Amino acid sequence: MSNLEILKDFLNKNCYSFKENESLKIHTSFKIGGNASLFVSPESEEQLKEITDKCKDLSVKFYILGNGTNVLFSDKGFDGVVISTTERMNVIRKISETSFECDAGVTLSAVCNYALENSLSGFECLYGIPGTVGGAIITNAGAYGGEISDVAVEVNHIDNNGNFGSFIGEEIDFSYRHSVYETNNYSICSVVFVCEKGEKEEIKAKMIDLIGRRKDKQPLEYPSAGSTFKRPTGGYAAALIEQAGLKGTCVGDAQVSTKHSGFVINKGNATCNDVLELIEIIRQKVFENSGIQLECEVRIVD
Ligand SMILES: Cc1cc2nc3c(=O)[nH]c(=O)nc-3n(C[C@H](O)[C@H](O)[C@H](O)COP(=O)(O)OP(=O)(O)OC[C@H]3O[C@@H](n4cnc5c(N)ncnc54)[C@H](O)[C@@H]3O)c2cc1C
Repeated sequence: MSNLEILKDFLNKNCYSFKENESLKIHTSFKIGGNASLFVSPESEEQLKEITDKCKDLSVKFYILGNGTNVLFSDKGFDGVVISTTERMNVIRKISETSFECDAGVTLSAVCNYALENSLSGFECLYGIPGTVGGAIITNAGAYGGEISDVAVEVNHIDNNGNFGSFIGEEIDFSYRHSVYETNNYSICSVVFVCEKGEKEEIKAKMIDLIGRRKDKQPLEYPSAGSTFKRPTGGYAAALIEQAGLKGTCVGDAQVSTKHSGFVINKGNATCNDVLELIEIIRQKVFENSGIQLECEVRIVD
């Protein structure tokens, strides 16, 4: 019996919700990627811990997935377990009039709607970012002058020894598209937010304005993973890509969007290799043209 079979046995015996040979295309906004050997959806941090502990015991690779809007999976798929938070770990718990806690798999749109319903301001800039709370913490997601770090005060996690713990305030080490979780491989379980009371109508107007700006500027009609590159010091990735003459450049069905050069889009049947080849061309040409090295924002899972 292989270790994967032993793990399957464990999941079955403990009545976990899981699928075998699950296509990752349907779980990612890029609509790219082969199959995951197992795709598991825990419904609590205890279940998340049990699954990750078991994977470690059996030396089975695992990958935690939120809403799949900042990842590029390989065409070969993932030889191991993809653990999805967004399907079942998605409860919001009120703490006080101005604070609440969200499971890692709660989508940012659900958080924004909760904030709106409760007249809480500070989340408007996150409206329209299609990820989960867990995914947003990893890269300190943000837009239009705001970031999740403006409102996230505590992150509860499972560390690499399988212990529950939390980071508070400066321990989270937020900066532009960075937090301590970008590299430490911890599993994020939940996040505590503290914000301010605001005027419901003002909050709603700001959310509508920002979603409108996204629709005007971004190629939302195509699958993508958002901005492909981080904003480099002293410039904007989209402008540098355009100046290098790359707008509309294609490799297979992967294309530098003609609407927003910062996005690589999937015009239909793009493969992971198409996207990786295009990313390499962009990085090389932009470097030749401007001397600036673009760094990928999208996380590539090989
Ligand atoms: C159309 C579009 C627009 C976008 N606009 C923006 C924008 O304006 N600003 C912005 O910052 N981003 C933007 N993004 C990118 C993306 O939505 C964000 O980075 C988002 O926060 C990713 O969340 P996710 O749940 O989809 O993460 P995923 O893509 O599922 O995962 C991203 C990374 O986080 C890790 N991860 C996820 N959950 C956990 C967890 N619970 N514990 C440990 N690790 C975890 C994954 O392993 C992976 O490495 C956009 C994407 C798209 C497609």
